[in-house]
Amino acid sequence: MSTAHEHTIETREFQAEARQVLDLMVHAIYSNRDIFLRELISNASDALDRLRFEAIAQPELIPADTELHIAIAVDKDARTLSISDNGIGMHRDDVVSLIGTIAKSGTKEFIRQIQDARNAAAPELIGQFGVGFYSSFMAADKVALITRHAGDETATKWESSGESTYTIEEAERAEQGTTVIVHLKQPDADNGLADYAQAWKIKEVVKKYSDFVAYPIRMDVEHTNDKDETSVETEILNSMKAIWLREDEVGNEEYHEFYKHISHDWTEPLEVIRARMEGVLLYRLLLFIPSHAPLDLFMRDARHGVQLYVKRIFIMDDCEALLPPYLRFVRGVVDSEDLSLNISREILQQDKQIERMRMGVTGKVLDELGAMRERNPEKYLTFWKEFGRVLKEGLFQAPEKREDLLKLCLFASTFSATDLTTLEDYVARMKDGQTDVYYMTGESRKAVEDSPHLEAFRAKGYEVLILDEPVDEVWTASVFEFEGKRLQSVGKGDVELGTDDERKQAEESRKEQREIHASLFECLSAKLDDCVKEVRLSARLTESPACLVGETGDLSPQLEQLLRAANQTVPLVKRILEVNADHEILRKLQAIYDANREDPCIEDYARLLYGLAVLAEGGQLPDPAAFSKRVASVMVVAMP
Ligand code: ADP
Repeated sequence: MSTAHEHTIETREFQAEARQVLDLMVHAIYSNRDIFLRELISNASDALDRLRFEAIAQPELIPADTELHIAIAVDKDARTLSISDNGIGMHRDDVVSLIGTIAKSGTKEFIRQIQDARNAAAPELIGQFGVGFYSSFMAADKVALITRHAGDETATKWESSGESTYTIEEAERAEQGTTVIVHLKQPDADNGLADYAQAWKIKEVVKKYSDFVAYPIRMDVEHTNDKDETSVETEILNSMKAIWLREDEVGNEEYHEFYKHISHDWTEPLEVIRARMEGVLLYRLLLFIPSHAPLDLFMRDARHGVQLYVKRIFIMDDCEALLPPYLRFVRGVVDSEDLSLNISREILQQDKQIERMRMGVTGKVLDELGAMRERNPEKYLTFWKEFGRVLKEGLFQAPEKREDLLKLCLFASTFSATDLTTLEDYVARMKDGQTDVYYMTGESRKAVEDSPHLEAFRAKGYEVLILDEPVDEVWTASVFEFEGKRLQSVGKGDVELGTDDERKQAEESRKEQREIHASLFECLSAKLDDCVKEVRLSARLTESPACLVGETGDLSPQLEQLLRAANQTVPLVKRILEVNADHEILRKLQAIYDANREDPCIEDYARLLYGLAVLAEGGQLPDPAAFSKRVASVMVVAMP
């Protein structure tokens, strides 16, 4: 037996973010602190899963006669509660890196949000972030952890009272696994702090939150008979039924608890998807759509994927191969009857069975989303606001699912200032003679609405979809059709609005005007050769003097900007300057040109016209100084 002075006790500081999160745990007011126990049991259950998985290849990791389990022990006098598992355990370095720091993406952002929200919203935000082990400080003055990694000789002890430091030292532990000892605070019912030294309370919490945990959760419980004699019995507190296998009625509440167990999210999921898939392959799935987007949804190292089980044995977390990236927000379990237990992450990506399962899982999720959209539009809207941006990535990642995904998309449109529309509803509202679905991309709804490109559409009463998210720039570059209707940007190509007759008429009158202005436009094109492809007459303007448009296959200016921001080399895309045939400016410019084709002011006006078109769509002038000089000189001339 070693004595204390043989060990060196090292005191270390928590990483700054970890300290801030801990501080929230210790000081914020929570209405429900029971969940700390759920978090510790989840961690224990994960550790057992991992050991069982490692032992498939290395059976010696699990000593003979070991039953994988979780044990809870209460010491009423010392006021401690300990949760032990004989799972994989941690090396000393793991303890430092996993427990002393928070490596989660989005931690900084999360802390900032909490600080902004002050105390009131803090519990809810923390719930969304999920901070497993640290939640024990909601109920503890001090927490100790003793752990020994499977295969290691020595153990490590960690201890902290949740302030700025923790201690770490070598320790002993009879077998592999981890024990967390929670030194309980005094109970405080008014602040949601129950007495966790009471066996009945522990039983209640385990039953409620952790019933489906796949390992027995044992506890010694004292019983007193009518003769006042006490005896101690070891009870198993959970039923251990894999919830996705149960054929009996499972209440939503149970599903929700299971979701929280696997996702480390403390809020209810938006939707539960349950299915038994039969066919070439047999598998079950129990999936969840969270009710809010996690902070790391758009980060490179975001968690992605569902848990994979094979015949009820946990194989891995975050199995990316079972879900396409545009469904990365889905959580849950897929349990296969056919895969081999030895399947590894490396071979997953090429495995034909996995590929087939991915298709099945994807189809099921999209079907359920479609059903939600029809049955419960309000709920679907919540989903869309949280995850629509991610789902849209599928439009360019998964051409085979494009039609299904387009039907699931909701868009803002000029039809309503507040409501979103589906493409099907848009098509149903199309005007007589309208053949295409029109959209405009831009930075914001306002930028799109103010843009001159919409003028003719507005005049004709044509609806235009407003696409104002960065991802819209990307998918519209590769999706050109919905159910046989062209998807047409109002900022690109020619626009032909109205019935056949109206179009014929418009074309006639434009032909005339084109002839009148042909020589002037040639001259303007030459003067602006460095910035535009061509100057031509516009069919889309009713009020503004000019606008810039692209050709059908061109990158939009926003996409160009996005690509540049992502450090890609993008060739400069010149666009077309369209001039309003009915505008005074064109009439007067034509007069100047007719009087003297060499008049130097023609170039000035051409540059001003180009500048106005850039500004009207919210763009950046290539040479703001030259532009403002020209405006100033025009003002001088115009002022009386
Ligand atoms: P999370 O569980 O969300 O990852 P925690 O703060 O609860 O966050 O735990 C951090 C990490 O510490 C876990 O991911 C795991 O690697 C390790 N850990 C926690 N508890 C245990 C345990 N009982 N056994 C083994 N490892 C554990």
